[in-house]
Amino acid sequence: MEFDYWWLIVCPIFFALGWIAARIDIDHLVRESRNLPRSYFKGLNFLLNEQPDKAIDAFIEVVKVSPETIDLHFALGSLFRRRGETERAIRMHRNLLDRPDLAPEQRDQAVAALGEDFLKAGLLDRAEECYAGLRSGPYRPEALRRLLEIYQLLKDWPKAIETATVLSTESGEAKQREIAHYQCELAQAAQAASDLVAARQALAAALEARRDCVRASIMLGDLAAREGDQGAAIDAWQRIEHQDPAYLALVARRLLDAWRATGRITEGLTRLRHYLADYPSIDILDVTFQATLEEEGADAAHRLVREELRRNPTLLGLDHLLEARLLGADAPQRQELEMMRGLVHAHTQKLSRYKCQNCGFRARQFYWQCPACAGWETYLPRRVEEIELA
Ligand SMILES: [Zn+2]
Repeated sequence: MEFDYWWLIVCPIFFALGWIAARIDIDHLVRESRNLPRSYFKGLNFLLNEQPDKAIDAFIEVVKVSPETIDLHFALGSLFRRRGETERAIRMHRNLLDRPDLAPEQRDQAVAALGEDFLKAGLLDRAEECYAGLRSGPYRPEALRRLLEIYQLLKDWPKAIETATVLSTESGEAKQREIAHYQCELAQAAQAASDLVAARQALAAALEARRDCVRASIMLGDLAAREGDQGAAIDAWQRIEHQDPAYLALVARRLLDAWRATGRITEGLTRLRHYLADYPSIDILDVTFQATLEEEGADAAHRLVREELRRNPTLLGLDHLLEARLLGADAPQRQELEMMRGLVHAHTQKLSRYKCQNCGFRARQFYWQCPACAGWETYLPRRVEEIELA
């Protein structure tokens, strides 16, 4: 077999080419990594080892050495804010804004981030200034949402109405419910200042923004009752049946008082029984029970609550049944019934709260705006027990 000598020449050439190719790649990598400061890798290492404090120090070093790393500035700024170090976050974002080489979109991003810092620090006027400056661009809708948050905190309802209107026009977000509530807040302030004309105007505007605004109907009824026009008050409260009948529970007591004041208690009691049959509710049962007891006696009240309990077995209803039974009971029975009622009553205390459907916050009284999550109309006009049964 004859040996091919040309292999002796070709093999080293291939090796040399491979070696050169590898060198080129390695040199490229080394050059790239030399462009990034050592602190950057140190910072990454700290982050991977879950040592955020040391990572921040390392990244600050990078920012000092290579000020062109704009994204790192943003990342650090939001990291500071999240940790509650708002002063450092503000400084970071202000430094960015001072840079002449910032692109318009980066400038907007920095303004929005600065607004967020001020909001977190509770400096509402400065936050407002930042967000109000974002008149267009991708950060505009979020800026409007933040402005709305600020005006609600400041209870500046005219500005809240204006901002919500702009937001719904520009981004198509439905804000009618909120606008109607802002108008109701305006009406409440006017009512407190005894300016009943302004209060009525605001309530009309609330109903214009949202025809089904139950709160406006309730307040219109309250206004009429305050002026001594019980008939108009009854009309306003009864309109709720066509808006959202579940809310009749909130006005059942007011309706009963107005019917009584106008000498229409029999008519009122019939209406209440219809409401109870059509829209079962613990609060309506409560009012109907008391009215029946006063107008028709313990037996009628007992019958009413027993029938209702058969239809809707609730502990709050049982509480009333025991109350009715107690009224007609003799001494030995009384003791036993009182003990039972005491037990049921202790338990129903917790069940008679209202509950926010957004954050779950429970409250003894009904709120139109949740005190915990600031959501509007997030409470159902129903007690916890009714919601849980449903
Ligand atoms: Zn809530």
